[in-house]
Amino acid sequence: MLAQEVIRAKRDGHALDAAQIDSFVRGLVDGSWSEGQIAALAMAVFLRGMGRDEAVALTRAMMHSGRVLAWPDMPGPVLDKHSSGGVGDKISLMLAPLVAACGGYVPMIAGRGLGHTGGTVDKLEAIPGYRTMPAAQEFDRIVRTLGCAIIGQTPDLAPADKRLYAIRDVTATVESVPLITASILSKKLASGLQGLAMDIKCGNGAFADTPEMARQLAESIVAVAAGAGLKTRALVTDMNQVLGHEVGNSLELLGAIDYLRGDAREARTHELTLALGAQMLIIGGLAADEVQARAKLQVALDSGAAAERFAQMVVALGGPSDLMERPAAYLAAAPVVLPVPALRAGRLAAMKTRDVGLIIVELGGGRRQPGDAIDHRVGFSAMRQLGDVLAAGEPLAMVHAADAAAAERAVAALQAACEIGDASGAWTAPALLQATVG
Ligand code: URA
Repeated sequence: MLAQEVIRAKRDGHALDAAQIDSFVRGLVDGSWSEGQIAALAMAVFLRGMGRDEAVALTRAMMHSGRVLAWPDMPGPVLDKHSSGGVGDKISLMLAPLVAACGGYVPMIAGRGLGHTGGTVDKLEAIPGYRTMPAAQEFDRIVRTLGCAIIGQTPDLAPADKRLYAIRDVTATVESVPLITASILSKKLASGLQGLAMDIKCGNGAFADTPEMARQLAESIVAVAAGAGLKTRALVTDMNQVLGHEVGNSLELLGAIDYLRGDAREARTHELTLALGAQMLIIGGLAADEVQARAKLQVALDSGAAAERFAQMVVALGGPSDLMERPAAYLAAAPVVLPVPALRAGRLAAMKTRDVGLIIVELGGGRRQPGDAIDHRVGFSAMRQLGDVLAAGEPLAMVHAADAAAAERAVAALQAACEIGDASGAWTAPALLQATVG
């Protein structure tokens, strides 16, 4: 089948049949479709969309483009959570061990930062010795014995997505509901899950920047997953500000350790962790309802059981045995730390969240090109939240940078990304949980 004929069909607004989609996915993996042809089809899909049957066929073909994992004889449900991508989102680090401590088995195959968004694998690689690419048998053993392991995507898992995503990333074709659906679900279906909680970020720091697009994405993911036999529930959650007080790889990891140890549990981060964790427990039959699930999760947090699972996972994957007790001994600190003063007194009324993510990339905490090394030390800590009232000069955050010039640029950029309004009017915090689908 000629690639140009498949592209022409989609360009002209026709639905692709399974044979056309299979030929595209084969071409992604065996190299018979050129980069230009893949980009052209991605743009045609971006502009023309896909029907549900096409999205299902694309997801299935991409899932079967590599190895498909299976977890036979697992003593409990095999569950996972995935986010469509945000800024400051460190929830996976806490959620995998938390759900494991409640009886779930979480083989979490996580991603790296994409565009302005952060990635769980990059955060874990801040830990000296932590191996994000263990052998398959080791991954299996750790999940079976500890209940969770967070690792990176291996080259044999949904390889079609790997090539397609890299091309979408540089051809402005990321923000497409069917392409995001197939990208996320092909990887999740290939990892052999029985249940999935999806966090669909919505807002100015998300790929879905309107409630309409977030809703469409949530419905598409839930429907396509159901068609493939994967029980999925999606929460649409606010991403019009960074999540929590830390942004940047080591800093978010420190935030996750503080959270698990119970030293600090920022309200929105805690609410989202419980909300997603509750969906995982309910889907997996580990709790009857939201009230029971939240109670179970809270016990696992407060007893230290979740922190203990995290510590054991870190050791099993090559990290230090006392990371939880002495994180500062292992996570390198940035040489320059400066306050970001508020330019005027008032209420933090809005944040250009995507810009905050891009500042992290500028600081060296994300990649400009695939394969770039990243600086785990950089980012922001003590980030203020929307609704906070500040005096003039009071810090909006602390910037952590590799040198003074980079720190100064980040100070100015964060000041520009934060809108300070009048403090006297009424203030309603934007709802964190916007919708549940599935
Ligand atoms: N995350 C993915 O894995 N794929 C997308 O297309 C977007 C976010």
